[in-house]
Amino acid sequence: MTPAEKAARIGEQLDALYPKPPIPLDHTDPFTLLIAVMLSAQTTDKKVNQVTPALFSEGPTPAAMAALSVERILTLIKEVGLAPTKAKNVKRTAELLVERHAGEVPQTLDELEALPGVGHKTAQVVMAQAFEIPAFPVDTHIHRLAERWGLSSGKNVETTEKDLKAVFPEDTWIRRHLQIIYFGREHCPAQRHDPQVCPICSWAAPPKDDSESETTASKDVKTSKNAKDAKDAKTSKNAKASKDTKASKGTKTSKDASATKASKDPKASKDASATKASKDAKASKDAKASKDAKASKDASTTKASKAAKAEKGRAS
Ligand code: SF4
Repeated sequence: MTPAEKAARIGEQLDALYPKPPIPLDHTDPFTLLIAVMLSAQTTDKKVNQVTPALFSEGPTPAAMAALSVERILTLIKEVGLAPTKAKNVKRTAELLVERHAGEVPQTLDELEALPGVGHKTAQVVMAQAFEIPAFPVDTHIHRLAERWGLSSGKNVETTEKDLKAVFPEDTWIRRHLQIIYFGREHCPAQRHDPQVCPICSWAAPPKDDSESETTASKDVKTSKNAKDAKDAKTSKNAKASKDTKASKGTKTSKDASATKASKDPKASKDASATKASKDAKASKDAKASKDAKASKDASTTKASKAAKAEKGRAS
C-alpha cells in the first residue's frame, strides 16, 4: 500500500469518526481566535475556554486589548500556563495589529509569524481556521500519529508537515488536522494498551517489536533508541569477532566477499557473520592443532633419527 493509499484509507476512517470536527477554542472572529490559540500553548483548550470570556469582554478588539495594561491581562489569564509571558505577548500583538494592520488580523504566514508569541503552528491554525486557507498545523499528537501510521519518518515537525501535505489532498488539510487531534485525544491513552484494537494502528502501523503497546511519546523514543543501541552493539561485536578470526587466517578474499555481502544485506550478513566467525575460529583452532601435532611429530622423528645416527657412530 502506498503512503497516499494509506492516507486515503485513514482519511475515510477519520471522516466517519469526525465528519465535521468543531474548532475546539471558543472565539467569535479572527482576532479572538488568534488570542485563544496564543494562550493555548502548554495549556488545555478547556482551560483557555474558561479564561477567554472575561478577557474578550474587556478586550474584544485589537484596539481595546491594546488599551489594557499587561497587569490587567495577566490577572484575567493567570490560570493558563506561562501567563506572564503570554500577557505581554497579547498586549504587544494587539498593539501591532493596530499599528501595522489597521486593527485586522493579517492573512499571511510571514505577517502572522512576525507577531510576538505567534509561531509557525499558531500562524497556520489561524490561517486555516479563521480564513480557511489550506494549512496543516502539526502539534505533538499529529507528529506522533503521523509517525505511528507510517505517513512520516517522525524526524521533526517540519518534516511531518511536509509529508502530511504530500499524502493528503489539499482540500482535506484543515479538517484532517482537527480530526487527527481529536483521534489522538480520544483514542491514544497515555498508558500501555493494545494497538491491535485501535481502528487505525491495527492495520496502518508498520510492524515494530513487542514494546509496541507502550504508547507515550517518550516511550516511543526510548524504545527506538534502545533497539538501535542494542542492534549497533551486536553488529559491532559480531564484526569484531569476524575481523579477529579473519586476521588470524589472513584471507583477504573472504573479507572482501563478506564486506560486499554486508552492504547488500546487513541482517543476513550479521547472522552469517556470527556463524562464520564461529566456524572460522574452529577451523583456525583445528589448523593450529594439526600444525602443532605435525611439528611435534617431525621434531620427534628428527630426534630419533639423530639418536640412531649417534648410536651407529659409536658402534662403528
Ligand atoms: S494504537 Fe494507540 S497510539 Fe496508535 S493510534 Fe491507536 S490508540 Fe493511538
